[in-house]
Amino acid sequence: MDLDSISQEIKSCTKCPLHKGRIQAVPGEGAVSTEILFIGEGPGESEDKEGRPFVGQAGQFLDEMLESINLKREDVYITNVVKCRPPHNRDPLEEEVRVCTSRYLFDQIKNIKPKLIVTLGRHSMQVFFPHFKSVSTSHGKAYKKADQVYLVLYHPAAALYQNSLKETMKDDFKKIPQILEEINQISN
Ligand code: SF4
Repeated sequence: MDLDSISQEIKSCTKCPLHKGRIQAVPGEGAVSTEILFIGEGPGESEDKEGRPFVGQAGQFLDEMLESINLKREDVYITNVVKCRPPHNRDPLEEEVRVCTSRYLFDQIKNIKPKLIVTLGRHSMQVFFPHFKSVSTSHGKAYKKADQVYLVLYHPAAALYQNSLKETMKDDFKKIPQILEEINQISN
């Protein structure tokens, strides 16, 4: 399935109970051909209303950080682990994550073939590194697994609740160009 077909299928998906409470599913958006894929946890209230990822306050902070490394949303692809909003913004359940990632996220990755996957928050990190316990001990470092490079970051919403994380997130974000350069040097 190509990226458009995946997005279409997500919009009418009923494969897990999260479809019951959603206004709109949020497949993801951005450049089809990009070096960087950002993966958050799940849509929040604003995203559920608009059908687009990271459009609330956390999204504004993400945009700000993208600008700090001379990137715009249109230069990258942004999606979430689960594509429908969990009720009252609760954590997605293990089974919801399993169903949604196996049906959609892994296919999105296959289509985009990013050089770097940036995980935003614990749920996103644990899709790829289930044994990592906490973002606080894993963030800001690049990891390689089966030829794919990952950078673990806090979820931008965490910085909104805990102001001291803002500078940490900004510092971690600034590592992205250097990591990409290293990936490009190795692959050339
Ligand atoms: S969260 Fe994913 S699997 Fe569940 S209904 Fe939405 S798109 Fe389908």
